[in-house]
Amino acid sequence: MPPVFKLYDTMSKEVKPLKTVEPRHLRFYSCGPTVYSYAHIGNFRTFLTADLVVRTAEALGWKVTYVSNITDVGHLTVDDVADAEGEDKMEKALKSKEGEAFNNVWELAEFYADALVSDWQLLNLRAPQVRPKATQHMTEQIMAIEQLVKDGHAYETPTGVYFSVQSFKDYGKLSGNKDQESLYRAVREVVSDDNKRHPADFALWKKDHKHLMQWFSPYGWGFPGWHLECSVMAQQYLGDTLDLHAGGEDLIFPHHECEIAQSESLNGKPFSNHWIHTRFLQVDGKKMSKRDGTFYTVRDITDGKGADPLALRLALISGQYRQPFNFTLQTLRDAEGNVDRFRLCDQKADEGLTKNLPGDDFVGEALRQLSDEMLEAMCNDLNTPVAIAKALEGTKVILREADGLNGASAKSAKAFLDSVNKVLGIVRSDYASGPSQAKASGEDDWVEEQIQARASAKQNRDFALADKIRDDLMAKGIELRDGPEGTSWKRKLTV
Ligand code: AMP
Ligand code: ZN
Repeated sequence: MPPVFKLYDTMSKEVKPLKTVEPRHLRFYSCGPTVYSYAHIGNFRTFLTADLVVRTAEALGWKVTYVSNITDVGHLTVDDVADAEGEDKMEKALKSKEGEAFNNVWELAEFYADALVSDWQLLNLRAPQVRPKATQHMTEQIMAIEQLVKDGHAYETPTGVYFSVQSFKDYGKLSGNKDQESLYRAVREVVSDDNKRHPADFALWKKDHKHLMQWFSPYGWGFPGWHLECSVMAQQYLGDTLDLHAGGEDLIFPHHECEIAQSESLNGKPFSNHWIHTRFLQVDGKKMSKRDGTFYTVRDITDGKGADPLALRLALISGQYRQPFNFTLQTLRDAEGNVDRFRLCDQKADEGLTKNLPGDDFVGEALRQLSDEMLEAMCNDLNTPVAIAKALEGTKVILREADGLNGASAKSAKAFLDSVNKVLGIVRSDYASGPSQAKASGEDDWVEEQIQARASAKQNRDFALADKIRDDLMAKGIELRDGPEGTSWKRKLTV
């Protein structure tokens, strides 16, 4: 019997089986980033939770329809209140120092959306079937606003169109901001607009003919409120009721609360049957901060510190998604050692398969058991620490066969490593020629040339030159390892 996939549900506040409307078909929406800059490792902690849900469901043999959006308009700088205020994050980015590189806000959005996909692939996350953009769903958003106005859930003011929270009796059911007092507390800094009926009402449309990204609507020129895109795109690609909706913990209120209000008012059906939220990542015990030098994008760690992307992935999933997680460079170093172990096992399994020596399967039974336990741990509210421990126990079993694996054992080892990779994605990348790898290949070619030059020097018995090449590479953070199959190399962590 396969294990039951259980996840904590933010709405009912309990760990419960993830039930799908259609048997064994998960329809899943996970809120993506606002593409005004490179995504940071905290964002990726949240995206990795979604990735692990997808992988676990797939490992159970389910079909998964996975949608993760890109916000490229409408997310304002003060977003922790229902009716956000401040500047549009995209516009602000264009005016910043980094923004000088772009001719307009559209170019900036496209650049960071592409960068997101590169980082996504670099960290070996499953690609969503659809990655819809807010700017490409304007007609649908405007139509939703018209519908909400028509049905009495929204009203127009001189500054925009607002959703009336009093028109939706369940407003607050996800976050608990239900009674008047907590609602007022949560929305204490909202945009003050005398024409709003209730301070918690939030904008569906902001009238603004000066905004850099604007569309024409029945309410004049302007742009949509941030919450609307997810309601509209989730319905378009996944239907009225989702099986699961995910995001970081800051999205519980207001973003997801507002999504529920909009969607359920539009469709009269439950918006999502299950909600999961990832606890925020901290660095060195605190909120990431540019001033303290603890704010990391993915490339700050991979390019800047020379870390193996799969090690960064492993480090980020090493804590269970609901527990506080403190990222340190030591976590990264430990993960690098473990990723090396998986790679070594993969290499040994390949060697064993090539040689295909006769003999009994010495490892299969133990590895199958560990693989089942790994999946069981993931089905237990994505318990990654236990799942990773089971995967590492498997490497011990494989490496214990010091004289190498015979054909049958190598086959079992390979099957085990495949299952680890399927569920956790930490053995090898699914994107052999992803854009980030292509970018790195210039340097990789150069290192290969240096290794060739060193081999020739050795052949000519010029050991002084051979040593110099090795030392020069070492000084650049490239470590060589001589083995029976030739010389391999890896980047050292520069931390
Ligand atoms: P944003 O681009 O701000 O919309 O964020 C994209 C996703 O990353 C959202 O689901 C956020 O909740 C999540 N997120 C933002 N900061 C962190 C963090 N430090 N740790 C975990 N998730 C985060
Ligand atoms: Zn969303």
